Amino acid sequence: MSTRPGITIIGSGFAGLGMAIKLKEAGYHDFVILEKAGDLGGTWRDNTYPGCACDVPSHLYSFSYEPGPGWSRMFSPQAEIRDYLRACVEKYGLGPHLRFGAEVAGLEYDDAARRWRVDVAGGETFTTNAVISGTGALHVPSLPAIPGRESFAGPSFHSAEWDHSVDLTGKRVAVIGTGASAVQFIPRIAGQASRLHVFQRTPPWIHPKPDFPLSPRARRLLGLPGATRALRAAIYWALESRALGFAVDPRLMGAHRKLALRHLADQVPDPALRAKLTPGYTIGCKRVLISSDYYPALGRDNVEVITDEVREIREGSIVDSTGRETEVDVLVYGTGFRVTSALDERRIVGRNGRKIQDAWQDGVQAYYGITVAGFPNLFLLLGPNTGLGHNSVVFMIESQVRYVLGCLRLLSRTKAKALDVRPEAQRAHNDRLQDRLGRRVWNTGGCGSWYLDERGVNRTLWPGFTFEYWARTRTPRREAYELIP
Ligand SMILES: Cc1cc2nc3c(=O)[nH]c(=O)nc-3n(C[C@H](O)[C@H](O)[C@H](O)COP(=O)(O)OP(=O)(O)OC[C@H]3O[C@@H](n4cnc5c(N)ncnc54)[C@H](O)[C@@H]3O)c2cc1C
Repeated sequence: MSTRPGITIIGSGFAGLGMAIKLKEAGYHDFVILEKAGDLGGTWRDNTYPGCACDVPSHLYSFSYEPGPGWSRMFSPQAEIRDYLRACVEKYGLGPHLRFGAEVAGLEYDDAARRWRVDVAGGETFTTNAVISGTGALHVPSLPAIPGRESFAGPSFHSAEWDHSVDLTGKRVAVIGTGASAVQFIPRIAGQASRLHVFQRTPPWIHPKPDFPLSPRARRLLGLPGATRALRAAIYWALESRALGFAVDPRLMGAHRKLALRHLADQVPDPALRAKLTPGYTIGCKRVLISSDYYPALGRDNVEVITDEVREIREGSIVDSTGRETEVDVLVYGTGFRVTSALDERRIVGRNGRKIQDAWQDGVQAYYGITVAGFPNLFLLLGPNTGLGHNSVVFMIESQVRYVLGCLRLLSRTKAKALDVRPEAQRAHNDRLQDRLGRRVWNTGGCGSWYLDERGVNRTLWPGFTFEYWARTRTPRREAYELIP
């Protein structure tokens, strides 16, 4: 690696690798990808829990220019997606650019040199012209602040850090949380455990999962010219139509609600269990999950859904708000990730020594989720308000990658050394965004969710159609930026 790489990418998930591929294609070869872990893949390296798979069909949840190696099923399992990313690294020759075990501990902008100083954990430091952060939004596990959590004596782990050395066969297992990961692993462990206690705070809305293996013949057909592309487009528009409900007319969500209620009624004959699993908030307020085996797993004789709040964790048991004590051998947290809070814990110092925490004292924000005023030549991939509840985030990543390339071209065209988004452009963008978000189901639907920060402000989701985001980020508006000579 050059000691002064032109561009530094942080992270080797879909975002960092997608950026690297397009940088090379555009003729930028002087870059490094710093990855804190010992392997690439991000989400698809870390999440190895049983049943882990994507919940957007693989033909869309992949790079548009690399639609897939013949996915084995509609929703591919974790290892297949990880291998796909590895194959991309191989095909696009990214290996020499990757540095593992290199955690970026801090970034500091040098106003005089117009360069970023990158501090890598362990003491190494170098400077670079631009930093592109692909550090992932769902990356830092969130553990609940339940009294006594540390005192649990048996094995306990978060779904993103699954401990495969623990054999659940014949064990009394408790799962805390019923989010997107839990609905995937609960069906896989329900038949293994002697007893499975599922502690549910809020039931998710669930649609059936149209998942099936793709036969060799189907895969051959998809290999015909244009076939994968056509399937990809069909999936994209089918998923995008879901945005009509929250972006255009909430009444359109009625059909989604009906589908979810019918799915629940079909799969849960027991009225008492059905009542526990019926959400009391507007569909879409939290992420709508997809599963065809979650409800049947909860209906098993050895599985119990507990809706009373967890009050305390003891050495070998969990006490709920009714005072009931449930003895357990293994505890699994399906409690999701720290999203907005994780973003602003990083040590990033911009122009004039300003810390990112000061820039974000009223909440995390950026211009189209990519650039932050006062932090020149720092680009965020999947930054604030660019997450999705209804479609593939790889689509958003690709829009952002193209935008960053547009910024780099603007720099070379104008011979400027750096660009910094104007605070008024960022403010106007965020005012418009929050105005739209304030009227959307995530804020008005009667639920709390990780979409909202501690002030109840949505800092995670893009409020409209993804093609609108794509269109708005096609080329950077020069007037929105200060070009620093
Ligand atoms: C179980 C699960 C299933 C999902 N399924 C879907 C789906 O079906 N569809 C969908 O659209 N989205 C899905 N998502 C969201 C998913 O996170 C994104 O789709 C995508 O993988 C994000 O890619 P990324 O590169 O931005 O982040 P990540 O994949 O999280 O990669 C970030 C990388 O940055 C590294 N890193 C972080 N901090 C540092 C640092 N300081 N220094 C160096 N390296 C660092 C991390 O180690 C990691 O490798 C899912 C998420 C989870 C957890």
